Amino acid sequence: MNTSNDNSLTIVGAGLAGALLATLLARRGWTIDVYEKRGDPRVKGYEGGRSINLALAERGLNALRQADADGPVMAQAVMMRGRMVHFLDGQSQLQRYGRDDSEVIWSVHRGDLNITLLDLAERAGAKLHFDRRLESVDFEVRTARFRDDRTDQPHEIGFRALVGADGAGSALRAAMNRRSGLGERTEFLDHSYKELEIPPAPDGSFRIEPNALHIWPRGHYMCIALPNDEKTFTVTLFLPNEGDPSFATVKTAADARALFERDFADALPLIPQLDEDWQRNPPGTLATLYLDRWHLGGDAVLLGDAAHAMVPFHGQGMNCAFEDCVALARKLEASDDLAAAFAAFEADRKPNAAAIQQMALENYLEMRDRVDDPDFLLQRELERA
Ligand code: FAD
Repeated sequence: MNTSNDNSLTIVGAGLAGALLATLLARRGWTIDVYEKRGDPRVKGYEGGRSINLALAERGLNALRQADADGPVMAQAVMMRGRMVHFLDGQSQLQRYGRDDSEVIWSVHRGDLNITLLDLAERAGAKLHFDRRLESVDFEVRTARFRDDRTDQPHEIGFRALVGADGAGSALRAAMNRRSGLGERTEFLDHSYKELEIPPAPDGSFRIEPNALHIWPRGHYMCIALPNDEKTFTVTLFLPNEGDPSFATVKTAADARALFERDFADALPLIPQLDEDWQRNPPGTLATLYLDRWHLGGDAVLLGDAAHAMVPFHGQGMNCAFEDCVALARKLEASDDLAAAFAAFEADRKPNAAAIQQMALENYLEMRDRVDDPDFLLQRELERA
């Protein structure tokens, strides 16, 4: 248990991990301040701009239960009982994730989820500071400098310890690296993604089966679609960066339309705003981040994407980040010594994160190349029998 007089922690980033961790710690009596570079999404709307919905699995749901966040989150979640594979000839087939609906995953809206977690964090007593982008840290004198991007005003604060929940491009990680190398390396995937949308049908219903994660596997590339509770689907096209087809050859909306006509013909009529979506959303890059160390003694620690960003093909980045939050809160509760708690957290979670990162890379091959392979399907049937 934490018996130190100063039980304050400063979290950088009020995204998914930052907000959940703030809730868990504030409920345990910690004094928590959270600094977020964006504005408050509850006031000005969510500005996420990428991966609009996410697959929530049992690992993440279990972590949400620890903060009593599962009720409000699940009220907006859409169940996905399996992969709906769309073959080139227009046929489709549901491949269940488990034997029945006790083994399913859930599609959740990133913005709604973030807002739910921010409300819970604030209710638990955490102080949220928006429009505060971390710029630099002076670990000698224990000050962190933030900037308000609206006014360009700097803000300096003192801290006892910093927790980096500021995502894959973590500014805290960069500051820690400057103080003492973390052994950072990033491996970029030679594929990127683009998001499109399937709107509701004219009668307001879903246009395709809602309770599935839709996949159009096409060998070296693929499309997927996840349902949203407002009856839309977010479609993600994954393409190589080079070769044909790739983001180098499919550049304009007309190129994209031609690709869909040829390879995703049944999906094309479902995406009436294809041209606008294509022009509006730039391709997103995909990478795996590896670090040798996640913490600097008791001064700072990283979690979530800031520590172990991964490619999205296992749908586990957020789930893994949520598990980190539960693990870190437990380690902090068990020890009075921040350095020991951070070290125990790293020892516990780093091997898990590395395993999930590897599975995520492997699952890309399975999703784009094997889920429509008759031998693979037979193998799955045999495994299930
Ligand atoms: P983030 O969600 O990135 O939050 C970081 C927060 O820090 C943000 O609010 C940001 O504004 C803030 N911030 C950044 N820099 C600063 C700064 N300098 N100062 C202050 N604040 C800062 N995961 C799943 O589990 N299931 C999925 O289905 C899934 N699908 C995905 C699909 C795609 C296309 C992508 C790209 C990712 C997907 N993921 C999925 C991964 C998931 O999005 C991440 O793992 C998750 O968002 C990590 O949460 P986080 O809180 O660590 O980081």
